[in-house]
Amino acid sequence: MPIYEYRCERCDHTFEVIQKFSDEPIEQCVVCGGPVSKVLSPPGLLFKGTGWYVTDYANPERKKALEAEKSPAGDGKGKSKQEAKGT
Ligand SMILES: [Zn+2]
Repeated sequence: MPIYEYRCERCDHTFEVIQKFSDEPIEQCVVCGGPVSKVLSPPGLLFKGTGWYVTDYANPERKKALEAEKSPAGDGKGKSKQEAKGT
């Protein structure tokens, strides 16, 4: 039996419901009774929150940009430390 995930549009409560294909879809939040929308979670994608992170690193251009951001920041820190010592 498939598990459906719903998210409340009013209180943002997320809950999972095991339903048959023939069952009526859930339309009300179990907490506040507000309208809910079905969250489609693709099979195999287990870490929902960090999904964007994985996709970011899969993109070579994005990876380059992230690495470019890191290196100058590290150099700047080291320099300012030395200068502070001198004074
Ligand atoms: Zn709710």
